Amino acid sequence: MTQAHPDVLISSDSSAARWQQALSDLITDPLELAEMLDLDLADRPLSAAGLKDFPLKVPRAFAARMRPGDWNDPLLLQVWPAHAESIDHATLSKDPLQEAAFTVAPGVLQKYQGRALLMAAPHCAIHCRYCFRRHFDYDANSPSRREWLDSLSVIGKDPSIKEAILSGGDPLANNDRQLAWLIDQLGNIRHLHTLRIHTRLPIVIPERINAELLAALQRCRLKVVVVLHCNHAREIDADCEQALQALRAAGATLLNQAVVLAGINDNVTSLKDLSERLFDCGVMPYYLHLPDDVAGTAHFMVDEQRAKQLMKALRGELPGYLVPRLVQEVPGQDAKTILG
Ligand SMILES: *Cc1c(COP(=O)(O)O)cnc(C)c1O
Ligand code: SF4
Repeated sequence: MTQAHPDVLISSDSSAARWQQALSDLITDPLELAEMLDLDLADRPLSAAGLKDFPLKVPRAFAARMRPGDWNDPLLLQVWPAHAESIDHATLSKDPLQEAAFTVAPGVLQKYQGRALLMAAPHCAIHCRYCFRRHFDYDANSPSRREWLDSLSVIGKDPSIKEAILSGGDPLANNDRQLAWLIDQLGNIRHLHTLRIHTRLPIVIPERINAELLAALQRCRLKVVVVLHCNHAREIDADCEQALQALRAAGATLLNQAVVLAGINDNVTSLKDLSERLFDCGVMPYYLHLPDDVAGTAHFMVDEQRAKQLMKALRGELPGYLVPRLVQEVPGQDAKTILG
């Protein structure tokens, strides 16, 4: 083992401490968030059932990008446990994608040819109210080292798998050491070409993109693709931009998936601004998802017709490479379904 220079140790320790501090100091009290934004809770009753089911979780850096005094702020709407969650609570499915059927080992989903998805983290840094994983039993699926070894062995035995996708939860919520270990192990599987990481952390806690993580990605033999999740241009501030540049400098290809959400980004201007802002930061738009049919999220629904109209307008205003593909997950298909 090489001897680390003491200065390097000090700076790396503090960078780990910084993002982990941000991850453990989340806003979880709706009252605190409302007060911070100068909003009166009496104007927007909460969903007690929604909160109980899926607590509020917002990183402070993300909340700082919300506009004070605006209940319709597109960042706030993504995390606010609105009363509507109680109304549509019972109507929709809790496993809309029927993922249970594709679980090949605890925490490993194999749904599509050549790709295996690892649920590599038990939690997220933020709770997005529209999330299709809001009813996911993370306790039952929280990977221990033992389960990671089982997952690695499943992938190691199947040469048809070319790409390992770390998903979650948010895989970057794992600590530096765990994550570096997992990345190294995946790099040792000879038939893998690509490591893909699905994450919202570079957006919501940009300090997460620290020297340890960058070093682990850089020494990895695999091509690295980071698929971000960002729904609105205003989510990306200067710190995010810097984090994204660092990921690019480490050799990662950056893509974004967004969800089209009623009242948040279901208009041409928002979607156009999002694509342009992403491109400024070196990120290519990849997918625009229609919201999944998840219990408690009906108030975010955008119907297919409306989404297709938005896409048509977007194609008229942006170069083709900045137009994301509108997709929907249809259980039982061999790929995500591209709509119009
Ligand atoms: C979406 C998804 C993938 C990746 O699909 P791409 O079209 O390659 O982005 C892989 N596995 C599962 C289980 C998925 O849901
Ligand atoms: S970060 Fe992703 S997985 Fe986590 S709550 Fe948000 S949408 Fe869901």
